[in-house]
Amino acid sequence: MEFAFVSGNPALDLAATVGSRRDEPVDLLATPGDLERWVARCGELPDRVTADPATFESALALREAIYRLALDRVLGRRFDPGSLAIVNAAAAGPVLTIELGDGGLRMSGDLRAVLSHLARSAMAVLADPHACLKECGRAGCTRIYLDRSRGARRTWCGMDQCGNRVKAAAYRARRRSGRRDRGDGLAHPGGPA
Ligand SMILES: [Zn+2]
Repeated sequence: MEFAFVSGNPALDLAATVGSRRDEPVDLLATPGDLERWVARCGELPDRVTADPATFESALALREAIYRLALDRVLGRRFDPGSLAIVNAAAAGPVLTIELGDGGLRMSGDLRAVLSHLARSAMAVLADPHACLKECGRAGCTRIYLDRSRGARRTWCGMDQCGNRVKAAAYRARRRSGRRDRGDGLAHPGGPA
């Protein structure tokens, strides 16, 4: 699995660094170095931060709190109080420095400021009554994303990650059942067309 930024919000992208949460969770942030790479890849964050072990642990706790609150929102439940406390505390941290230039925005700050920014991004989407949060339609993905499409008709977190995979699997299943309908090719000595 590669880092993917398809959730429409960086906090949701952070939560999705654990995939297949209900079956066999895959954690893409196994080490502080993984988190540094993730921050560098995320378009809304500074190009370079250093992750010390303690702040790395805070980042993982924030990630799980964001995921829990997003899931609460998807399921129409009340927010989990412990997760609210973690996100609120992170948001009260230092802020990123933002500079506007001809090349657009330049963000700088340390990992604490990054976590504060991510907590604030999570708050913005979780507090928005019009934000349409969904879980990806591919069984086993479990990524929660912000559906901004007209009429909120998106089914997948991303076409590359999931949509095309589901469509390809459905195509293979149709071909298999088509062969079964013809008697597994037995009626056709030449095998399936
Ligand atoms: Zn997906």
